Amino acid sequence: MSDIFFNTPNWQQELSCAVSDVATLYELLELPVPANHHQPKKFPLRVPHAFVNKIKKGDPNDPLLLQILPDVAESLTVMGYTTDPLDENNHNPIKGLIHKYQNRALITLTGACAVHCRYCFRQHFDYGANLPSSDEMAVIGEYIKQDSNINEVIFSGGDPLSLNNRRIKAWIDMVSDIDAINTIRIHTRMPAILPNRIDDELVQILSSSPKHIVMVLHINHAQEIDDILAQKCQVLKNNGVVLLNQSVLLKGVNDKIETLCQLSWALFKMGVLPYYLHILDKVAGSAHFDIDIQHAIGLYWGMLERLSGYLVPKLVQEVAGKPYKTPIDIYQITKTAIKD
Ligand code: SF4
Repeated sequence: MSDIFFNTPNWQQELSCAVSDVATLYELLELPVPANHHQPKKFPLRVPHAFVNKIKKGDPNDPLLLQILPDVAESLTVMGYTTDPLDENNHNPIKGLIHKYQNRALITLTGACAVHCRYCFRQHFDYGANLPSSDEMAVIGEYIKQDSNINEVIFSGGDPLSLNNRRIKAWIDMVSDIDAINTIRIHTRMPAILPNRIDDELVQILSSSPKHIVMVLHINHAQEIDDILAQKCQVLKNNGVVLLNQSVLLKGVNDKIETLCQLSWALFKMGVLPYYLHILDKVAGSAHFDIDIQHAIGLYWGMLERLSGYLVPKLVQEVAGKPYKTPIDIYQITKTAIKD
C-alpha cells in the first residue's frame, strides 16, 4: 500500500457528533432560525461537522445546505412522486439484494448514512427487511454464484462505507471468493461528507482484493471538494481503486451550466471522472428539487459546448422496469438556448 496518513481523526467519533438538530445547524451557519423550520422525525437532519464546514456561513441558499436541510416542501404530496420510484421492491429476490440488471447485483449493506440527503431515492426504503446478517451474507453469495450472468457486485445502502472496516472486509472477502465476479463497485457519498472515512485500514482492505475495485463518489457540487478529499482520492488511486462520480441534477444546487462545468473540472483535477448525471428519481418528498427535462437537456448541451468529451457525464434517468439506465435523448430538443 502506498501513502500513509498520520494523525487522521477517528471518523466514527466524527460521525457520532453529527448535527441532528435544525436549530443548531442554523446557529453554526450564522443564520436566523425560521419560525416554521422543518424537523422531520422520519429521515431527520443528519450532517457531520466536516460537511457543515464546507457550507458558506450566512447563505440560506448555499448549494450544500440545500442538499441536507429539511424543507417543509418535503411533506407535500405531489402526483407522480412515490415511495419506491425505481420499483426496487419488485427486484428484491432475497434479503439485502436487489437484482435489476443482467450482469450486476446490488447489496444493501447497511441502512446508515453519514448524511441524510433530502433528495435520496431510498429515503422510504424498507431497510429493516433488507439488512443482511452474517448468515445471510452466505445466502447472498450463493445467489450470486448461481447466476452466471452476474460479473459485478455493487455495494450500496445506505452508505456502505458507514460499516466498520471489519464488516467491509467480510463483504469484500465473500465477493472476492466468487470466481465469476470481475468487479466490486462501491457507491458512496462518504468521502465527500467525511473524508477521514478513507483510513489506512480501509485502503489496505480495498487494495488487497483480487477484484477490480471501482468507487463511485456521489458529489453534486464543486464546493463539496476540498484538499483533504483530493488527498484521499490520490491515495485510493495510488492503490488501484478506479474513481468515478455520479451526480443528480438538483434545482437550486447544480442547475446551471457553469456549476456543472466547474464540478467536472474539480473532479478531474483530483483524478475522478464524471460518469453519470442523473435526472432526479421521483421519490416522495423531493419534488422541490426536480427540474424539467427540457431544462436538463439545455444544460447538457451547454456542457457539451464547453467541456472536452471525457468531462461530460452521461445524462441518464432510471426508469422502473427498464433493464438498463436510460440515456436521455438530447436530440428531442435541438440545442436549447439556456441563459445561465
Ligand atoms: S448518502 Fe446516499 S443513500 Fe445516504 S441519504 Fe444520501 S443519497 Fe441516500
